[in-house]
Amino acid sequence: MTKSHHVRVGHLVDGSGGPIQKDMLLTVRDGVFVDIERFAEDMVLDPSAVTDLSLCTILPPLIDCHTHLSMSGTTDQQTRKQQLTADYDEIRPRIAEHIHYHFTHGVLGVRDAGDQHGHALRYKNEPTENKKEPVIIKAAGKAWHKKGRYGAFIGRHPQDNETLAAAFSGENDGADLVKLINSGLNSLSEFGRETSPQFSLDEIQEFASQVKQRGQKLMVHANGRLPVRFALEAGCHSIEHGFFMGKENLRRMAETQTTWVPTAVTMKACAETLDPRDTLIDRRVVERTLQHQLEQIALAKQYGVTIALGTDAGSRGVLHGESVIEELKLIMKAGYSLTEAIQCATSNGAQLLGIDEIGIIAKGKPAHFLAARATPAMLPRKLSYLEGIYLNGTPCNKEFFHKI
Ligand SMILES: [Zn+2]
Repeated sequence: MTKSHHVRVGHLVDGSGGPIQKDMLLTVRDGVFVDIERFAEDMVLDPSAVTDLSLCTILPPLIDCHTHLSMSGTTDQQTRKQQLTADYDEIRPRIAEHIHYHFTHGVLGVRDAGDQHGHALRYKNEPTENKKEPVIIKAAGKAWHKKGRYGAFIGRHPQDNETLAAAFSGENDGADLVKLINSGLNSLSEFGRETSPQFSLDEIQEFASQVKQRGQKLMVHANGRLPVRFALEAGCHSIEHGFFMGKENLRRMAETQTTWVPTAVTMKACAETLDPRDTLIDRRVVERTLQHQLEQIALAKQYGVTIALGTDAGSRGVLHGESVIEELKLIMKAGYSLTEAIQCATSNGAQLLGIDEIGIIAKGKPAHFLAARATPAMLPRKLSYLEGIYLNGTPCNKEFFHKI
């Protein structure tokens, strides 16, 4: 039998949403947690087999359930335009860089919400040995939207006289999941303006049943009451953004156990990076929209809606990796405790991605975890300066960790 080693930790946040556990001893064998118990001074341990993280809080690796890996968060319009039209060879190094940013922030799982050319899906499908960091990617490939409506820059549309379901059945790019866009963007100049659904309820239902038959999960971009209601009635797995979806939809989500990915950080980033010369965006509207989204997040907690953390990284001003910490702060600002917010960013995300390698720290699970040199009171801030990332109980070396 392989020798086991121990990790002594100051505080443990296990990702389940349960209470923070103080002064714990985790035993790892063959890269897997075999025991998790309270540390006691009279334990007989071989000092050479103990990693001392007693000044640290440890937690599971984080998951970002809404990224656009082929886009950077740059606010430079020229660069953004160029990224939208670039071919795979040009974009591949950018994707690798964004993955690296995720990794250095402890984000070891991402769900890509699509790009026009399917670059992120192609990257995901490359052999593992081509990739530097062990970040799990689930990718939607090209999203679906209605011709002439919002979404052309991340997707494709059915042709004239073709239904959404017919277009979908004609294409199978082997994506992990399917992304549908069923509303417009949030208005940044008129508070609470809602757009109409892109597709009728019948169209979405027919489409959703085909997605289900193919064994894929359906994520739906939807803002406003009607677009969200149609997506929920069709049985989607997650609502992305969900700005101004309203109480009725939140209650419906709780009943149907549909996951919500609120991406509140997009509004914060928009307010922070606003160009004062931009007359199309009203800062007060953006700030009120953020506040409204936080109120919806508070209601979600009250109603029992499952939230999975997602950032929309790659949108204007939303940086890969770093924005996960910002979204954690916003979820807490809405009233979630630290452990509840971390649950959104770990086990809830893992469930949505359908993965079990990461998401929770428990006996029998791979010993992957993050260490922050801080008490829980310093989180999530200290997650921006991780002490270490441990994979199978072993720290990634610092050079690898901080090479950019
Ligand atoms: Zn998005």
